[in-house]
Amino acid sequence: MITTPFAYAVPAGAAQVVELLAANPGARLLAGGQSLLVDLQTGADRAALLIDIGRLPGLARVTTMPGGGLRIGALTLLADLAGDPRVRAAHPALAQAAAANGDPQVRNRGTAAGNLAAPGRPTDLAVAAIAAGAQVAVRDAAGARTVPAADFARMVADTSARRLLVTHLEVPAPDRGASSAFEKIPVRATRYPLCAVAVHGRRHGEGTVFGLRIAACGSTATALRLAEAEAALEGSAGTVQQIRAAMRALPADTFVARPGASAEYLAHLTAVLTARALNRLPTAT
Ligand SMILES: Cc1cc2nc3c(=O)[nH]c(=O)nc-3n(C[C@H](O)[C@H](O)[C@H](O)COP(=O)(O)OP(=O)(O)OC[C@H]3O[C@@H](n4cnc5c(N)ncnc54)[C@H](O)[C@@H]3O)c2cc1C
Repeated sequence: MITTPFAYAVPAGAAQVVELLAANPGARLLAGGQSLLVDLQTGADRAALLIDIGRLPGLARVTTMPGGGLRIGALTLLADLAGDPRVRAAHPALAQAAAANGDPQVRNRGTAAGNLAAPGRPTDLAVAAIAAGAQVAVRDAAGARTVPAADFARMVADTSARRLLVTHLEVPAPDRGASSAFEKIPVRATRYPLCAVAVHGRRHGEGTVFGLRIAACGSTATALRLAEAEAALEGSAGTVQQIRAAMRALPADTFVARPGASAEYLAHLTAVLTARALNRLPTAT
């Protein structure tokens, strides 16, 4: 039960959402409710006003952009993202992250933007979006702009994302010959990631990996790109030993202990999942 009172609004369009957000600092956007309603029930969050964006028109679809990238509407259901043939072909890690999210009920209510914007816990789609090189398209009273997915993850952590309406994700076409893969070890009780990793890149015939983007969450304070590890592994065979060495060489504060898991253990998990994901990249021809 939600014990604190709140007002409820159903705006007609994105412009009205932005107006309501600007005028009500205590407002929260309600999409599928799979994180927000739980947070309101447990007291992890409070809302003076719930702005129900679930029926905003035109935001629940995936379309192809000029140049071959994908535009993923904010209200696209996780289940639809997981099953979309264009997403599965161009960005398997995004589809795999959506499919790894919760259970069928959650995936049939939860939305792409809701998963990216959900505060307090690591979320699957965040790492896949970072590895895909996605931009998060947002609107507020200052206008519309795009924010790199890693920056958006930091804005969720520092709560500044609460003032924004995400309208869609812009995901560029994968680099030539590149693909992606997502790996996760869930917390058993909740299915949220204890650690999740997404990689984008290409594997050559002799097994060497190139053009890497590696993102992790759960083991790190926010979902983030492991740029130094990418550089260390570029052109290598991507063996477990090389990946573990690359993780050990990251800045000391990259991996953050959480209850029941030391920073060393989480660094190890990140290396293991990175190795698994790299192994799944198809060999470029
Ligand atoms: C049983 C269970 C299991 C789960 N397992 C996982 C899991 O394994 N992995 C995982 O990553 N998550 C998991 N989750 C969380 C859940 O999948 C997502 O966080 C959820 O789908 C969020 O989407 P939503 O549409 O329901 O967002 P809501 O709950 O409606 O909103 C979540 C947050 O995002 C904000 N928001 C929503 N839409 C927008 C928008 N368009 N623009 C800006 N802000 C917005 C809201 O204001 C709120 O702060 C689980 C949840 C449950 C209940």
